[in-house]
Amino acid sequence: MSYVFPPPPTVSVPVIGSAARFPVHRIYCVGRNYEEHAKEMGFSGREPPFFFLKPADALVLAAGEEPTLLPYPSLTQDLHHEIELVVAIGQGGRDIAAADAAGHVFGYAVGLDMTRRDLQGDMKKQGRPWCIGKGFDASAPITPITPAAQAGEVHQAGIWLRVNGQERQRSSVAQLIWKVGEIIEHLSRAWELAPGDLIYTGTPAGVGPVQHGDLLEGGVDGLAALRLRVL
Ligand code: MN
Repeated sequence: MSYVFPPPPTVSVPVIGSAARFPVHRIYCVGRNYEEHAKEMGFSGREPPFFFLKPADALVLAAGEEPTLLPYPSLTQDLHHEIELVVAIGQGGRDIAAADAAGHVFGYAVGLDMTRRDLQGDMKKQGRPWCIGKGFDASAPITPITPAAQAGEVHQAGIWLRVNGQERQRSSVAQLIWKVGEIIEHLSRAWELAPGDLIYTGTPAGVGPVQHGDLLEGGVDGLAALRLRVL
């Protein structure tokens, strides 16, 4: 087998407590999955879950004590943070029932669904796809993955984000409108899930803009925390 140019490297995320890495297949994201965030975006709350994707190579690994540098993307004047619990799929499948979903989860991480809010808003108004607002380069910071068995009570855990030491987002994963098992049930009806898929599960209220030089610190209690500096 030969290629007309060298194929891109496999995108992967470190796994806590393991030398082996998690190879990434796709990145799915859930929209408006905390009631208070749905309200701040102008919606009422419970509606069927909906999904969008980011390219796998939009990941930015945020590991370690030193903040990872996050490039400020082109074309936007309104880059927003959205702190999210990320589910890492270890076993794929179609039509997975919520009650069986836990057996498909490899582990959990903390991620940021970075959003060019101005461009997303323009696309919404025009009824166009969100890709340019959501799926841009470096739009998906993520921490190393904690295996599910070591993730503790992640479904009840606090989720939070600070900007320059000031708290901007704080909630509990228990406040998810669609729980992790339900997300997997809905997603796996629409796409065949595969090992290596990541699911950004939605953000609580308090989203807002970041500026050049800002320090972003975020976490889900019990998982590795995320530290980034906006370039
Ligand atoms: Mn989001």
